[in-house]
Formats: sequence, C-alpha cells, structure tokens
Amino acid sequence: MRIADLIPTRKPFLSLEFFPPKERDTWPKFFEEVEKLKVLDPLFVSVTYGAGGGTQANTLDIVTRMKNGLGLEPMAHLTCVGASSEALHGFLRAITTAGIQNVLALRGDPPKNVADFSFAGQEFQHASDLVRFIRRHYPDIGIGVAGIPTVHPESASAEEDLKWLKHKVDAGGQFVVTQLFFENGLYLGYAQRLRALGVSVPIVPGIMPILSMKSAEFIAGLNGRAVFGGFFETLEAAFAKGGDAAVRELGLAHATAQVQGLLDAGVPGVHLYTLNRAEACLSIMNNISIR
Ligand code: FAD
Repeated sequence: MRIADLIPTRKPFLSLEFFPPKERDTWPKFFEEVEKLKVLDPLFVSVTYGAGGGTQANTLDIVTRMKNGLGLEPMAHLTCVGASSEALHGFLRAITTAGIQNVLALRGDPPKNVADFSFAGQEFQHASDLVRFIRRHYPDIGIGVAGIPTVHPESASAEEDLKWLKHKVDAGGQFVVTQLFFENGLYLGYAQRLRALGVSVPIVPGIMPILSMKSAEFIAGLNGRAVFGGFFETLEAAFAKGGDAAVRELGLAHATAQVQGLLDAGVPGVHLYTLNRAEACLSIMNNISIR
C-alpha cells in the first residue's frame, strides 16, 4: 500500500530506516537484524540508496526481499543527482515489478569524484523534478520527500528552504521524513512553520541514536556540528569519562527521551534510523510508553 494511505490508519506509528550493507556475505546477518525488529510492527521500512557508496541494485534487492520474503511495507530511497530519465525509468519499473509501491524522492549530494560538478544543465536538478517525474509516469507509486529541520547547507536561508520544501510537496510529495536532529524543539518549530505556509501532509520526525563517538563524528562531518546543538559536547564529555560504553548509554537515553517527547507532543509517528542495529532500537522502543 502507499504509505500516505497507511499513515491515517495508525497513530502513532513507527517506521524504520536501514542501509544496504555493501558486502553481500553480511546480508544474512543484516536480515536477521531486520527480522528481530519485526516485533515493533513498523508501519513501513525504508532502505537508503547510494549513501556510503552503495548501489541501486542493493537497494532494489533488499526492498524486494523485505516485501516478498518478510511481509514488510518497504520504501526505496531514490536519488536523481546525475541520473538520466532512462536510468530512473529502469529503477522505477523494477520496483513496480517487485510490488514496491513507495519511493523517497531525493536529489542526493553532488558526486565527490566529479570535479566542478554543477547541477545546472542536469536533467534533474532538484528533488521536486524527480517527484514530478514519478507522479507523471508512475501515478500509483507513493512519494515521500526529505525535510531538514536544521536547514539544508546549500540554502541561503531557512525561509528559502521551507519555500522549496513546500514546492516539493505541491509537486506531489505525500509526506515528509526529516533529517536527524537532537533537540525536539527544532522539529516542532520546523513543522509549525511548514503548517503556517500551508503544508498539510504528515511531517515524520527522523531520530538517530548515537552509539559511538566515531558515529557522532561521522554525522558531524556530513551535516556539520550544528545539527547536534549542544549535544556533541555532552557526548564528548561522556566519552572522556567512560569511552564508547558511556556514549552508547547516553545516546540511547537521549534517543528514547526524544521519541517519548515527540509522541507526547502528538506527532503522527516516528522514523527511527536503525543503523541496522536491532538491539539498540529495541532498547529504545521498549522504554517508550504510548498513551
Ligand atoms: P532538494 O529538495 O532538491 O533540496 C536541495 C537544496 O536545493 C536545498 O537547499 C533546497 O532548499 C534547494 N532547492 C530545492 N528545490 C529547489 C528549486 N526548485 N530551486 C532552487 N533551489 C531548490 N542521500 C542519499 O544519497 N541517499 C539516501 O538514501 C538518502 N536518504 C535520505 C533520507 C532522508 C530522510 C533525508 C533527510 C536525506 C537523505 N539523503 C540521502 C540526503 C539527501 O540526498 C541530501 O540532503 C541532498 O543534499 C538533498 O536532497 P533533497 O532531496 O533534500 O534535495
């Protein structure tokens, strides 16, 4: 089913994001983690594409197995940066044949291995171009889009970013999944400003537990330290005292408090970035009370 049709059927809901492990010989272990998380009864599961050098074929194979082998409702992430319409047709036809009905339509980041890459002149310049393309050629596919409560780094201002998010929704985005954030106020303010602009689709907050200092540093490298607010320094202090065990404990407690706070604030659901780690996600969700 399309996720936009599923969302109104359950409040609050949980959705889970996975990334495709590059090495195929680790896939049995990966699917064991996915199976363990079925107990949380996710409304949908999503699988990233390309981040960290993964291939589109891996995303396709994993969503297919999640749907047809595990009975989950998957959403394939799809980026359009540097892509031709022919290549996008190839992927969209393949997921349709596999019975996958949902795509997270993304622009993606400029390729690191292409010097002076420019979006100008590309067939697809913005995620909204991909949204329109899917809407036009695959009207049965459900479309989610990405939102960044801490403002996309390429945006001139928060207002610009909100304006383009609305544009993406008006083009056919049926719900928004947000980038990670570590202060709920950021998400709540973001959702409020989008509502004020007339965006009425569900805005699903994305929560990532920090499980090691290396992972915190990786995220800071990708998104900038600002994404953490003051939490990065708190993590550093925990690491200095108790190493990664202390960081993991703090990261899980923080993510649990964020999820609980968001549910208490009445969000439609929470999207958990699982990092492919079932135990961590289960420990968060086992401490959540849903009223
Ligand atoms: P866009 O919506 O196109 O926005 C990019 C920038 O352009 C923003 O500054 C925006 O304000 C501006 N903009 C948008 N439209 C216009 C317009 N019409 N005119 C002028 N400016 C415009 N990346 C991956 O490679 N693989 C993944 O699987 C993946 N999954 C993600 C999942 C989530 C939930 C999120 C939040 C991000 C994910 N990303 C992924 C990262 C994403 O690809 C990057 O954030 C990328 O830099 C922007 O993608 P976008 O879809 O937000 O782009």
